[in-house]
Amino acid sequence: MNMITNHLPTAELQALDAAHHMHPFTDSNALAAKGARVITGAKGVHLRDSDGQEIMDCMAGLWCVNIGYGRDSIAEVARRQLLELPYYNTFFQTTHVPAIALAEKVTSLAPDHMNHVFFAAGGSDANDTNIRLVRHYWALKGKPEKQVIISRKNAYHGSTVGAASLGGMQAMHGQGTLPIPGVVHINQPHWYLEGGDMTPEEFGLQRARELEKKIAELGEDNVAAFIAEPIQGAGGVIIPPSTYWPEIQRICDAHEILLIADEVICGFGRTGNMWGSDTFSIRPDIMTIAKGLSSGYAPIGGSILSDEVFDVMATDEFYHGYTYSGHPMSCAVALENLRILEEENLIGNVRDVTAPYLAEKWAGLGEHPLVGEARICGLVGALQLTPDKASRAAFAEGPGNVGVIARDLCFEDNFIMRHVGDQLIISPPLIFSKENIDTLAEKAWKVLDKTMASAT
Ligand code: PLP
Repeated sequence: MNMITNHLPTAELQALDAAHHMHPFTDSNALAAKGARVITGAKGVHLRDSDGQEIMDCMAGLWCVNIGYGRDSIAEVARRQLLELPYYNTFFQTTHVPAIALAEKVTSLAPDHMNHVFFAAGGSDANDTNIRLVRHYWALKGKPEKQVIISRKNAYHGSTVGAASLGGMQAMHGQGTLPIPGVVHINQPHWYLEGGDMTPEEFGLQRARELEKKIAELGEDNVAAFIAEPIQGAGGVIIPPSTYWPEIQRICDAHEILLIADEVICGFGRTGNMWGSDTFSIRPDIMTIAKGLSSGYAPIGGSILSDEVFDVMATDEFYHGYTYSGHPMSCAVALENLRILEEENLIGNVRDVTAPYLAEKWAGLGEHPLVGEARICGLVGALQLTPDKASRAAFAEGPGNVGVIARDLCFEDNFIMRHVGDQLIISPPLIFSKENIDTLAEKAWKVLDKTMASAT
Protein backbone atom coordinates (compact mmCIF):
# COMPACT_ATOMS: atom_id res chain seq x y z
CA MET A 1 0.00 0.00 0.00
CA ASN A 2 1.08 3.59 -0.66
CA MET A 3 2.36 5.67 2.24
CA ILE A 4 -0.56 7.66 3.59
CA THR A 5 0.46 11.32 3.34
CA ASN A 6 -1.05 14.75 2.77
CA HIS A 7 -0.33 14.22 -0.92
CA LEU A 8 -2.91 11.52 -1.48
CA PRO A 9 -6.09 12.72 -3.23
CA THR A 10 -8.84 13.79 -0.86
CA ALA A 11 -11.24 11.04 -1.94
CA GLU A 12 -8.64 8.38 -1.21
CA LEU A 13 -7.93 9.81 2.27
CA GLN A 14 -11.66 9.98 2.98
CA ALA A 15 -12.22 6.38 1.90
CA LEU A 16 -9.36 5.15 4.10
CA ASP A 17 -10.67 7.23 6.99
CA ALA A 18 -14.19 5.85 6.66
CA ALA A 19 -12.83 2.30 6.33
CA HIS A 20 -10.70 2.29 9.48
CA HIS A 21 -11.26 5.29 11.71
CA MET A 22 -14.15 5.44 14.16
CA HIS A 23 -14.62 9.12 15.05
CA PRO A 24 -15.77 10.67 18.32
CA PHE A 25 -19.29 12.18 18.36
CA THR A 26 -19.82 11.33 14.67
CA ASP A 27 -22.55 9.59 12.70
CA SER A 28 -20.38 6.99 10.92
CA ASN A 29 -22.88 6.34 8.12
CA ALA A 30 -23.20 10.02 7.31
CA LEU A 31 -19.42 10.30 7.39
CA ALA A 32 -18.97 7.34 5.02
CA ALA A 33 -21.52 8.81 2.62
CA LYS A 34 -20.06 12.30 2.56
CA GLY A 35 -16.41 11.90 3.53
CA ALA A 36 -14.74 13.82 6.33
CA ARG A 37 -13.11 17.14 5.61
CA VAL A 38 -9.39 16.39 5.77
CA ILE A 39 -7.45 19.07 7.65
CA THR A 40 -3.81 19.10 6.61
CA GLY A 41 -2.31 22.16 8.26
CA ALA A 42 -2.96 25.37 10.17
CA LYS A 43 -1.44 28.75 10.88
CA GLY A 44 -2.72 31.53 13.11
CA VAL A 45 -6.52 31.35 13.07
CA HIS A 46 -6.75 29.46 9.77
CA LEU A 47 -6.91 25.79 8.91
CA ARG A 48 -5.99 24.32 5.54
CA ASP A 49 -7.74 21.30 4.04
CA SER A 50 -6.63 18.64 1.56
CA ASP A 51 -8.19 20.59 -1.32
CA GLY A 52 -6.06 23.62 -0.47
CA GLN A 53 -8.95 25.64 0.98
CA GLU A 54 -8.27 28.07 3.81
CA ILE A 55 -10.82 27.92 6.64
CA MET A 56 -11.20 30.49 9.42
CA ASP A 57 -11.48 28.60 12.71
CA CYS A 58 -13.92 30.42 14.98
CA MET A 59 -13.96 27.47 17.43
CA ALA A 60 -10.21 27.30 18.21
CA GLY A 61 -10.34 23.59 17.38
CA LEU A 62 -12.48 22.33 20.24
CA TRP A 63 -12.37 25.56 22.29
CA CYS A 64 -8.69 25.03 22.95
CA VAL A 65 -6.17 26.54 20.52
CA ASN A 66 -6.08 29.85 22.38
CA ILE A 67 -2.64 30.99 21.17
CA GLY A 68 -3.43 30.07 17.57
CA TYR A 69 -1.86 27.47 15.31
CA GLY A 70 1.72 27.07 14.09
CA ARG A 71 3.82 28.32 17.01
CA ASP A 72 7.48 27.42 16.31
CA SER A 73 8.61 27.85 19.90
CA ILE A 74 6.16 25.21 21.11
CA ALA A 75 7.48 22.71 18.56
CA GLU A 76 11.01 23.54 19.68
CA VAL A 77 10.23 23.08 23.38
CA ALA A 78 8.49 19.75 22.67
CA ARG A 79 11.45 18.52 20.64
CA ARG A 80 13.96 19.46 23.32
CA GLN A 81 11.89 17.82 26.05
CA LEU A 82 11.43 14.62 24.04
CA LEU A 83 15.20 14.35 23.62
CA GLU A 84 16.01 15.20 27.23
CA LEU A 85 13.33 13.21 29.07
CA PRO A 86 10.47 11.90 26.89
CA TYR A 87 8.75 10.20 29.77
CA TYR A 88 8.93 9.54 33.41
CA ASN A 89 6.10 9.20 35.87
CA THR A 90 5.28 11.24 38.94
CA PHE A 91 4.14 8.26 41.05
CA PHE A 92 5.91 6.76 44.06
CA GLN A 93 8.02 9.68 45.27
CA THR A 94 9.49 10.80 41.92
CA THR A 95 9.12 13.99 39.98
CA HIS A 96 10.74 15.88 37.11
CA VAL A 97 11.45 19.49 36.25
CA PRO A 98 8.63 20.12 33.73
CA ALA A 99 5.99 18.93 36.22
CA ILE A 100 7.54 20.98 39.04
CA ALA A 101 7.71 24.08 36.86
CA LEU A 102 4.19 23.74 35.47
CA ALA A 103 2.67 23.07 38.90
CA GLU A 104 4.38 26.18 40.21
CA LYS A 105 3.26 28.26 37.22
CA VAL A 106 -0.35 27.10 37.12
CA THR A 107 -0.87 27.63 40.83
CA SER A 108 0.70 31.09 40.63
CA LEU A 109 -2.03 31.95 38.10
CA ALA A 110 -4.78 30.39 40.22
CA PRO A 111 -6.68 32.24 42.97
CA ASP A 112 -4.51 32.82 46.08
CA HIS A 113 -6.14 30.09 48.12
CA MET A 114 -5.33 27.39 45.51
CA ASN A 115 -1.73 26.16 45.60
CA HIS A 116 -1.70 22.53 44.44
CA VAL A 117 -2.50 20.81 41.15
CA PHE A 118 -3.11 17.14 40.34
CA PHE A 119 -2.34 16.46 36.67
CA ALA A 120 -4.40 14.42 34.21
CA ALA A 121 -4.25 13.96 30.44
CA GLY A 122 -7.39 15.99 29.70
CA GLY A 123 -10.60 17.39 31.13
CA SER A 124 -12.60 14.15 31.40
CA ASP A 125 -10.06 12.28 33.47
CA ALA A 126 -9.47 15.40 35.58
CA ASN A 127 -13.17 15.37 36.41
CA ASP A 128 -12.94 11.67 37.23
CA THR A 129 -10.19 12.61 39.66
CA ASN A 130 -12.56 15.14 41.20
CA ILE A 131 -15.26 12.54 41.84
CA ARG A 132 -12.89 10.27 43.76
CA LEU A 133 -11.16 13.19 45.41
CA VAL A 134 -14.20 14.93 46.90
CA ARG A 135 -15.60 11.66 48.19
CA HIS A 136 -12.31 10.73 49.83
CA TYR A 137 -11.94 14.27 51.19
CA TRP A 138 -15.20 13.96 53.13
CA ALA A 139 -14.32 10.46 54.31
CA LEU A 140 -11.06 11.84 55.70
CA LYS A 141 -13.04 14.59 57.41
CA GLY A 142 -15.09 11.91 59.19
CA LYS A 143 -18.16 12.36 57.00
CA PRO A 144 -18.00 9.35 54.67
CA GLU A 145 -21.71 9.60 53.89
CA LYS A 146 -21.14 12.90 52.06
CA GLN A 147 -20.93 11.22 48.62
CA VAL A 148 -23.47 12.72 46.23
CA ILE A 149 -22.32 15.17 43.59
CA ILE A 150 -24.87 17.59 42.20
CA SER A 151 -24.46 18.77 38.62
CA ARG A 152 -26.72 20.30 36.00
CA LYS A 153 -28.79 19.03 33.11
CA ASN A 154 -27.16 19.76 29.75
CA ALA A 155 -23.73 20.29 31.37
CA TYR A 156 -20.68 18.82 29.67
CA HIS A 157 -17.84 17.55 31.83
CA GLY A 158 -16.31 14.96 29.49
CA SER A 159 -16.84 11.49 28.08
CA THR A 160 -15.40 8.97 30.54
CA VAL A 161 -17.94 7.07 32.63
CA GLY A 162 -17.45 9.42 35.56
CA ALA A 163 -17.26 12.67 33.60
CA ALA A 164 -20.23 11.77 31.38
CA SER A 165 -22.19 11.02 34.56
CA LEU A 166 -21.32 14.44 35.93
CA GLY A 167 -22.40 15.88 32.61
CA GLY A 168 -26.09 16.26 32.03
CA MET A 169 -26.34 15.25 28.38
CA GLN A 170 -29.38 13.01 28.01
CA ALA A 171 -28.16 11.45 24.78
CA MET A 172 -24.94 10.40 26.49
CA HIS A 173 -26.76 9.02 29.53
CA GLY A 174 -28.85 6.91 27.17
CA GLN A 175 -25.76 4.92 26.21
CA GLY A 176 -23.87 2.76 28.73
CA THR A 177 -26.25 3.02 31.70
CA LEU A 178 -25.30 6.44 33.02
CA PRO A 179 -25.14 8.32 35.29
CA ILE A 180 -23.27 6.27 37.87
CA PRO A 181 -24.91 6.19 41.32
CA GLY A 182 -24.42 9.26 43.47
CA VAL A 183 -24.65 11.90 40.77
CA VAL A 184 -27.84 13.96 40.45
CA HIS A 185 -28.75 16.88 38.21
CA ILE A 186 -30.64 20.11 38.65
CA ASN A 187 -31.86 22.45 35.91
CA GLN A 188 -29.55 24.74 33.95
CA PRO A 189 -29.71 28.57 34.00
CA HIS A 190 -30.69 28.89 30.31
CA TRP A 191 -32.90 31.96 30.49
CA TYR A 192 -33.70 32.19 26.77
CA LEU A 193 -35.04 28.64 26.44
CA GLU A 194 -36.41 28.08 29.92
CA GLY A 195 -36.93 31.47 31.58
CA GLY A 196 -40.59 31.90 30.54
CA ASP A 197 -42.01 35.21 31.78
CA MET A 198 -39.32 35.76 34.42
CA THR A 199 -36.65 38.41 34.11
CA PRO A 200 -33.17 36.91 33.73
CA GLU A 201 -32.39 38.01 37.31
CA GLU A 202 -35.48 36.32 38.78
CA PHE A 203 -34.78 33.22 36.74
CA GLY A 204 -31.11 33.11 37.80
CA LEU A 205 -32.13 33.14 41.47
CA GLN A 206 -34.80 30.54 40.93
CA ARG A 207 -32.43 28.15 39.17
CA ALA A 208 -29.69 28.65 41.77
CA ARG A 209 -32.18 27.92 44.56
CA GLU A 210 -32.89 24.55 42.97
CA LEU A 211 -29.49 23.63 44.37
CA GLU A 212 -30.63 24.45 47.89
CA LYS A 213 -33.83 22.45 47.37
CA LYS A 214 -31.87 19.47 46.08
CA ILE A 215 -29.49 19.63 49.05
CA ALA A 216 -32.47 19.71 51.43
CA GLU A 217 -34.06 16.75 49.64
CA LEU A 218 -30.86 14.67 49.79
CA GLY A 219 -29.81 15.91 53.22
CA GLU A 220 -26.71 18.07 53.37
CA ASP A 221 -24.85 15.32 55.23
CA ASN A 222 -25.04 13.27 52.04
CA VAL A 223 -23.84 15.87 49.54
CA ALA A 224 -20.14 16.15 48.71
CA ALA A 225 -19.96 18.75 45.96
CA PHE A 226 -21.61 20.82 43.28
CA ILE A 227 -19.89 20.98 39.89
CA ALA A 228 -20.56 23.50 37.14
CA GLU A 229 -18.92 25.31 34.25
CA PRO A 230 -18.88 29.10 34.87
CA ILE A 231 -20.40 29.35 31.38
CA GLN A 232 -21.91 26.12 30.06
CA GLY A 233 -19.97 25.66 26.83
CA ALA A 234 -20.98 22.55 24.90
CA GLY A 235 -24.52 22.96 26.24
CA GLY A 236 -24.83 26.07 24.03
CA VAL A 237 -22.72 28.85 25.59
CA ILE A 238 -25.16 29.47 28.39
CA ILE A 239 -24.11 32.64 30.17
CA PRO A 240 -25.92 32.63 33.50
CA PRO A 241 -27.90 35.65 34.70
CA SER A 242 -25.94 37.93 37.06
CA THR A 243 -27.87 36.64 40.10
CA TYR A 244 -26.99 32.99 39.53
CA TRP A 245 -23.39 32.51 40.71
CA PRO A 246 -23.56 34.66 43.88
CA GLU A 247 -26.55 32.60 45.04
CA ILE A 248 -24.81 29.31 44.18
CA GLN A 249 -21.78 30.45 46.16
CA ARG A 250 -23.95 31.39 49.15
CA ILE A 251 -25.67 28.01 49.10
CA CYS A 252 -22.43 25.99 48.85
CA ASP A 253 -20.91 27.99 51.70
CA ALA A 254 -24.01 27.71 53.88
CA HIS A 255 -24.31 23.92 53.49
CA GLU A 256 -20.65 22.87 53.49
CA ILE A 257 -20.73 21.69 49.88
CA LEU A 258 -17.48 21.75 47.87
CA LEU A 259 -17.74 23.90 44.78
CA ILE A 260 -16.00 22.54 41.67
CA ALA A 261 -15.65 25.07 38.85
CA ASP A 262 -15.04 23.25 35.59
CA GLU A 263 -12.73 25.77 33.91
CA VAL A 264 -11.85 23.51 30.98
CA ILE A 265 -13.30 26.01 28.49
CA CYS A 266 -13.40 29.21 30.56
CA GLY A 267 -9.90 28.93 32.02
CA PHE A 268 -6.84 30.68 30.62
CA GLY A 269 -8.53 33.76 29.26
CA ARG A 270 -11.62 32.70 27.34
CA THR A 271 -13.90 35.14 29.22
CA GLY A 272 -11.39 38.03 29.22
CA ASN A 273 -10.00 37.14 32.67
CA MET A 274 -7.67 34.32 33.61
CA TRP A 275 -10.58 32.27 35.00
CA GLY A 276 -14.30 32.16 34.45
CA SER A 277 -14.34 32.12 38.26
CA ASP A 278 -12.83 35.65 38.18
CA THR A 279 -15.46 36.85 35.72
CA PHE A 280 -18.33 35.55 37.86
CA SER A 281 -16.71 36.08 41.32
CA ILE A 282 -16.75 32.38 42.15
CA ARG A 283 -14.55 31.06 44.97
CA PRO A 284 -14.03 27.43 43.99
CA ASP A 285 -12.61 24.63 46.12
CA ILE A 286 -11.46 22.78 43.02
CA MET A 287 -10.99 23.93 39.43
CA THR A 288 -10.84 21.53 36.48
CA ILE A 289 -8.39 22.63 33.79
CA ALA A 290 -7.41 21.33 30.33
CA LYS A 291 -7.73 22.75 26.78
CA GLY A 292 -6.25 26.29 27.12
CA LEU A 293 -3.58 24.96 29.51
CA SER A 294 -1.63 23.76 26.48
CA SER A 295 -3.76 25.41 23.78
CA GLY A 296 -4.30 21.87 22.51
CA TYR A 297 -0.67 21.45 21.44
CA ALA A 298 -0.32 18.48 23.82
CA PRO A 299 -2.83 16.52 25.90
CA ILE A 300 -2.91 17.69 29.50
CA GLY A 301 -5.45 18.60 32.16
CA GLY A 302 -5.70 18.72 35.90
CA SER A 303 -7.48 19.65 39.09
CA ILE A 304 -6.34 22.69 41.05
CA LEU A 305 -7.08 22.34 44.75
CA SER A 306 -7.70 24.86 47.50
CA ASP A 307 -5.33 24.73 50.46
CA GLU A 308 -8.16 23.45 52.61
CA VAL A 309 -8.86 20.52 50.29
CA PHE A 310 -5.19 19.71 49.75
CA ASP A 311 -4.36 19.80 53.46
CA VAL A 312 -7.02 17.21 54.17
CA MET A 313 -6.06 15.04 51.18
CA ALA A 314 -2.41 15.16 52.24
CA THR A 315 -3.23 13.30 55.46
CA ASP A 316 -3.61 10.08 53.47
CA GLU A 317 -2.18 8.52 50.30
CA PHE A 318 -4.64 9.01 47.44
CA TYR A 319 -4.70 5.75 45.47
CA HIS A 320 -5.23 7.49 42.16
CA GLY A 321 -3.08 8.51 39.18
CA TYR A 322 -2.64 8.28 35.44
CA THR A 323 0.42 7.06 33.52
CA TYR A 324 0.42 10.47 31.87
CA SER A 325 -0.19 12.58 35.01
CA GLY A 326 2.35 15.36 34.52
CA HIS A 327 3.71 14.03 31.20
CA PRO A 328 7.05 15.82 30.69
CA MET A 329 6.44 16.91 27.11
CA SER A 330 2.88 18.06 27.83
CA CYS A 331 4.10 20.02 30.85
CA ALA A 332 6.88 21.67 28.84
CA VAL A 333 4.43 22.55 26.06
CA ALA A 334 1.92 23.94 28.56
CA LEU A 335 4.61 26.10 30.16
CA GLU A 336 5.59 27.56 26.81
CA ASN A 337 1.92 28.14 26.00
CA LEU A 338 1.47 30.05 29.27
CA ARG A 339 4.63 32.05 28.57
CA ILE A 340 3.17 33.12 25.21
CA LEU A 341 -0.21 33.88 26.79
CA GLU A 342 1.45 36.25 29.26
CA GLU A 343 4.20 37.70 27.10
CA GLU A 344 1.79 38.63 24.31
CA ASN A 345 -0.75 39.92 26.84
CA LEU A 346 -3.40 37.87 25.06
CA ILE A 347 -5.89 38.00 27.92
CA GLY A 348 -5.49 41.76 28.40
CA ASN A 349 -5.98 42.22 24.68
CA VAL A 350 -9.16 40.16 24.74
CA ARG A 351 -10.49 42.08 27.74
CA ASP A 352 -9.61 45.59 26.51
CA VAL A 353 -9.72 45.35 22.73
CA THR A 354 -11.23 42.35 20.98
CA ALA A 355 -13.98 41.34 23.43
CA PRO A 356 -15.62 44.82 23.40
CA TYR A 357 -15.29 44.93 19.61
CA LEU A 358 -16.78 41.45 19.23
CA ALA A 359 -19.60 42.37 21.63
CA GLU A 360 -20.51 45.29 19.35
CA LYS A 361 -20.49 43.14 16.22
CA TRP A 362 -22.37 40.36 18.02
CA ALA A 363 -25.08 42.81 19.05
CA GLY A 364 -25.30 43.75 15.35
CA LEU A 365 -25.90 40.10 14.46
CA GLY A 366 -28.57 40.09 17.17
CA GLU A 367 -30.52 42.48 14.91
CA HIS A 368 -30.88 39.80 12.25
CA PRO A 369 -34.51 38.58 11.99
CA LEU A 370 -33.42 34.98 12.58
CA VAL A 371 -31.59 35.75 15.84
CA GLY A 372 -33.54 35.71 19.09
CA GLU A 373 -30.61 36.35 21.39
CA ALA A 374 -26.93 37.14 20.81
CA ARG A 375 -24.99 36.07 23.91
CA ILE A 376 -21.33 36.95 24.34
CA CYS A 377 -18.74 37.01 27.12
CA GLY A 378 -15.09 37.60 26.31
CA LEU A 379 -14.43 35.51 23.20
CA VAL A 380 -17.19 32.95 23.62
CA GLY A 381 -20.69 33.44 22.32
CA ALA A 382 -23.89 32.07 20.84
CA LEU A 383 -26.55 33.17 18.41
CA GLN A 384 -29.91 31.76 19.36
CA LEU A 385 -31.88 31.13 16.16
CA THR A 386 -35.65 31.49 16.12
CA PRO A 387 -38.44 31.92 13.57
CA ASP A 388 -40.03 34.57 15.81
CA LYS A 389 -38.01 36.94 17.97
CA ALA A 390 -40.97 38.21 20.00
CA SER A 391 -42.25 34.85 21.22
CA ARG A 392 -38.82 33.12 21.37
CA ALA A 393 -40.52 30.34 19.39
CA ALA A 394 -38.84 27.11 18.30
CA PHE A 395 -38.66 26.08 14.63
CA ALA A 396 -41.40 23.90 13.15
CA GLU A 397 -38.61 21.79 11.59
CA GLY A 398 -37.82 20.36 15.03
CA PRO A 399 -34.90 21.17 17.29
CA GLY A 400 -31.49 21.33 15.69
CA ASN A 401 -32.42 21.07 12.01
CA VAL A 402 -32.05 24.77 11.28
CA GLY A 403 -28.89 24.85 13.37
CA VAL A 404 -27.39 22.13 11.16
CA ILE A 405 -28.32 24.06 8.00
CA ALA A 406 -26.58 27.16 9.35
CA ARG A 407 -23.52 25.23 10.56
CA ASP A 408 -23.12 23.52 7.16
CA LEU A 409 -23.42 26.85 5.36
CA CYS A 410 -20.59 28.22 7.52
CA PHE A 411 -18.45 25.23 6.67
CA GLU A 412 -19.17 25.61 2.95
CA ASP A 413 -18.12 29.24 3.18
CA ASN A 414 -14.83 28.21 4.82
CA PHE A 415 -15.41 29.37 8.35
CA ILE A 416 -16.24 27.27 11.37
CA MET A 417 -19.03 27.95 13.81
CA ARG A 418 -20.51 25.02 15.67
CA HIS A 419 -24.19 24.40 16.28
CA VAL A 420 -25.82 23.19 19.48
CA GLY A 421 -29.47 22.62 18.66
CA ASP A 422 -30.56 25.88 17.04
CA GLN A 423 -27.72 27.86 18.55
CA LEU A 424 -24.65 28.83 16.55
CA ILE A 425 -21.64 29.11 18.79
CA ILE A 426 -18.12 30.54 18.61
CA SER A 427 -14.98 30.31 20.68
CA PRO A 428 -12.17 31.64 18.49
CA PRO A 429 -8.45 31.66 19.31
CA LEU A 430 -7.56 34.48 21.71
CA ILE A 431 -5.32 35.94 18.97
CA PHE A 432 -8.45 36.69 16.90
CA SER A 433 -8.01 40.24 15.53
CA LYS A 434 -10.53 43.00 14.83
CA GLU A 435 -10.16 42.16 11.12
CA ASN A 436 -10.99 38.52 11.85
CA ILE A 437 -14.05 39.70 13.79
CA ASP A 438 -15.15 41.87 10.84
CA THR A 439 -14.85 38.86 8.53
CA LEU A 440 -16.76 36.65 10.96
CA ALA A 441 -19.58 39.20 11.33
CA GLU A 442 -19.93 39.64 7.56
CA LYS A 443 -19.89 35.94 6.83
CA ALA A 444 -22.24 35.13 9.71
CA TRP A 445 -24.82 37.67 8.50
CA LYS A 446 -24.79 36.10 5.02
CA VAL A 447 -25.16 32.63 6.50
CA LEU A 448 -28.14 33.83 8.55
CA ASP A 449 -29.73 35.24 5.39
CA LYS A 450 -29.22 31.98 3.51
CA THR A 451 -30.43 29.92 6.45
CA MET A 452 -33.59 32.01 6.65
CA ALA A 453 -34.19 31.54 2.93
CA SER A 454 -33.89 27.78 3.17
CA ALA A 455 -35.62 27.30 6.53
CA THR A 456 -38.73 29.47 6.22
N1 PLP B 1 -15.17 19.92 30.85
C1 PLP B 1 -15.61 20.81 29.96
C2 PLP B 1 -16.30 22.06 30.44
C3 PLP B 1 -15.43 20.60 28.60
O1 PLP B 1 -15.91 21.47 27.71
C4 PLP B 1 -14.76 19.42 28.18
C5 PLP B 1 -14.52 19.17 26.75
O2 PLP B 1 -15.08 19.80 25.88
C6 PLP B 1 -14.33 18.52 29.15
C7 PLP B 1 -14.53 18.81 30.48
C8 PLP B 1 -13.65 17.25 28.76
O3 PLP B 1 -12.35 17.49 28.38
P1 PLP B 1 -11.55 16.43 27.48
O4 PLP B 1 -12.26 16.37 26.17
O5 PLP B 1 -10.16 17.02 27.43
O6 PLP B 1 -11.55 15.13 28.19
